[in-house]
Amino acid sequence: MRPKNVVILGSTGSIGINTLKVIERLPDKFNVVGLTAYNNFRLLERQIRKYSPSHVAVSAKGVSYLKRHVSTLRTRILNVEEGLERIVTLKSVDIVVIAMRGSAALNPFLSAVRAGKTIAPANKEALVMAGDIIIKEARRYQAKIIPIDSEQSAIFQCLEGRKRIDLRKIILTASGGVLLNVSKSRFDCLTVRQILNHPRWKMGKKITVDSATLMNKGFEIIEAKVLFRLSMDQIQVVIHPEAIIHSMAEFNDGSIIAQLSVTDMRLPIQYALTYPERLGPGLRSVNFIELGQFHFMKPDVNKFPSLALAIYAGRCGGTLPSVLNAADEVAVEAFLNHRIKFSDIYRIAERVVYRHKAVKDPLLRQIWQADQWARRETEQLILQ
Ligand code: MG
Repeated sequence: MRPKNVVILGSTGSIGINTLKVIERLPDKFNVVGLTAYNNFRLLERQIRKYSPSHVAVSAKGVSYLKRHVSTLRTRILNVEEGLERIVTLKSVDIVVIAMRGSAALNPFLSAVRAGKTIAPANKEALVMAGDIIIKEARRYQAKIIPIDSEQSAIFQCLEGRKRIDLRKIILTASGGVLLNVSKSRFDCLTVRQILNHPRWKMGKKITVDSATLMNKGFEIIEAKVLFRLSMDQIQVVIHPEAIIHSMAEFNDGSIIAQLSVTDMRLPIQYALTYPERLGPGLRSVNFIELGQFHFMKPDVNKFPSLALAIYAGRCGGTLPSVLNAADEVAVEAFLNHRIKFSDIYRIAERVVYRHKAVKDPLLRQIWQADQWARRETEQLILQ
């Protein structure tokens, strides 16, 4: 079989870098045809030299830098503003890995879907904002979506080859984040750096803060709901600090199928790229004897109200999830810039969510309007 042509949106972030590591281990299976980044154009330059993609996209500053430094190479350098959608729809592309974060992934995600590509999203925002539209369009254009997020990949694997009618519920596991064993009264004493020190996963800043508040798990509930066509009542969250069980599916007879592995994003990434094959050399095995035991706990929604807020937004649906997503994005950014305290992230997001008049079954335009409205509201609350 010919190698598959892969585009990576956000190739300089943690998922993007891991995707390139997976591809490096399977050089006869994949070609890198497109890479995109925002500001890290020096790393992008090194990636261009190594993988010589036919197209790249980067911020305006990056375009002029790359045109000066890699002009001799046969790589077309585009501006991210219009380049992302152009790259994902190139005829040669088979798989689009969406490793970039934020709502900016929504439009290229939809373009890839409408071009009938296989999409491997690690990005949550697009599915949280417009999951129903994405899934509907994917069916219409026969685009395959194989998630990379470890929990969604686990569920995808647990449901493979089984009858959906037999499914009772799914159980999303959560490591619990950096604040699992920190009392709530101490939250605002912690520095940004302490919050960013996640015990199990090495990730970008935004998602690490979202893991600390459990908003990340809340987004994953909404994401799972749309990806696997579930009701909110069919999704349970369990804290599992060892982060070895990546999620589970429970069937009507009471049987539970779980997906386990060492904590390493290269596994779900590789599975999405090589699906339905499982290729070696794999990662190391889980050493159960060394682990000794697994722990499970109920998430504490009094301590982590963001989880309950996300469930509320997921239940209401419509434009509310996109409002929550936008409010959280702006509030987390403000926290990272030392403009607000840690607990303000929730306080502000909650106020924006309750102020919003949700639109049911929104059009894409209405989703973007809600997103813009929420960003303005959040910014105003930050300034107060
Ligand atoms: Mg996850």
